[in-house]
Amino acid sequence: MKYISILGSTGSIGTQTLDIVENNNDLCVRGLAAGRNVKLLEEQIRKFRPVVAALWDEKDAADLRGRVADLPVKILSGMDGLIQVVTEEMTQIVVTAIVGMIGIRPTMEAIKAGKDIALANKETLVTAGHLIMPLAKAHGGQILPVDSEHSAIFQCLQGFEKSKVRKILLTASGGPFRTRTRESLKDIQVEDALKHPNWVMGRKITIDSATMVNKGLEVMEARWLFNVGLDQIQVVVHPQSIIHSAVEYVDGAVIAQLGTPDMRLPIQYALFYPKRRYLNSKPLDLFQVGTMTFEAPRLDVFEGLALAYEAARAGGSMPTVFNAANERAVAKFLNREIGFLDIVRIIRQAMEHHQVIVNPDLDQILDTEQQTYDFIESRW
Ligand code: NDP
Repeated sequence: MKYISILGSTGSIGTQTLDIVENNNDLCVRGLAAGRNVKLLEEQIRKFRPVVAALWDEKDAADLRGRVADLPVKILSGMDGLIQVVTEEMTQIVVTAIVGMIGIRPTMEAIKAGKDIALANKETLVTAGHLIMPLAKAHGGQILPVDSEHSAIFQCLQGFEKSKVRKILLTASGGPFRTRTRESLKDIQVEDALKHPNWVMGRKITIDSATMVNKGLEVMEARWLFNVGLDQIQVVVHPQSIIHSAVEYVDGAVIAQLGTPDMRLPIQYALFYPKRRYLNSKPLDLFQVGTMTFEAPRLDVFEGLALAYEAARAGGSMPTVFNAANERAVAKFLNREIGFLDIVRIIRQAMEHHQVIVNPDLDQILDTEQQTYDFIESRW
């Protein structure tokens, strides 16, 4: 039996993780945490019987406590609740499927408690990778990627010497506006940006894909996960999303992982690593795919990707500014307070305003996040 807890169980990754639990009777859920979705968390508790669960707000938690009073489950709230869920004693692996930097602290506490991490919450590594990777090493825990591209890279690295990697080919669908001019992006509405061509995901990451900021976050995530230089990560636009990423070795061999777009594969691979299990997914039919195409990213149109490289090169607290500014700007766009192109404009302004802190600790990272939010609120 493998014991798991999920941070963000009611979201896109969280519910797909529970789908895998349902199809594998040697997985047992010990803890579940969510933001606001009381009803779905109640259903999940009734079905998967965790010993501990949490909602962010104490009012929602109190409501849930009443609803599941007939069950032996502890219901908690706030940051303390998240931490108690991920450090639950019997839990071996924590799926971090929460969205945003709120995932940093619980992820670090889970590592300190000796848990392995199946990491979907890329914002955590982007902003605190320099703290998390050494922490995992010190505590002997594994960080197993769930992001499909990073899982693909991880799979392509199996059985090969890491020192023989020449570069990582990080694929990108290019999002719904891949072929558009910058001018035509001015009037993009929320509904247009939420239509991803190949993947069904949460709202924030779907907008991040449309701006290609998501790919920028993934470059930073890859750098920490695989301990490679930024110059060794090449973004390749591949609109069909069949090649999930690839690794080029020093002898010129390129090893890629292919498949139909289905997040359950990387989630399942992380949960059972290094074993592979049956998955009832749609098999890849290369005859049906027919053609696979590749393009260089258009950095003049998708400036968010160029800014991500800039933030990564500046290092220290700058990736936190990039990420926090994006989080706030995307929330404003989803709220229809700003236009599509304003997202990247806000990120750029926040980065220009910031004085980099070299090697920030957790408090400095969280302070930088708050200062970035305050700066944006004062201007937009
Ligand atoms: P969703 O928006 O679908 O889900 C987010 C989850 O986080 C929900 O369960 C939500 O709870 C929970 N949550 C939000 N705020 C809090 C909080 N304060 N306390 C506790 N729980 C909270 O996101 P996704 O599943 O799409 O993405 C999750 C992470 O995985 C992101 O970092 C994303 O970048 C990454 N990722 C996602 C992929 C995908 O295919 N979706 C692919 C690769 C990476 P509630 O809904 O109850 O409020």
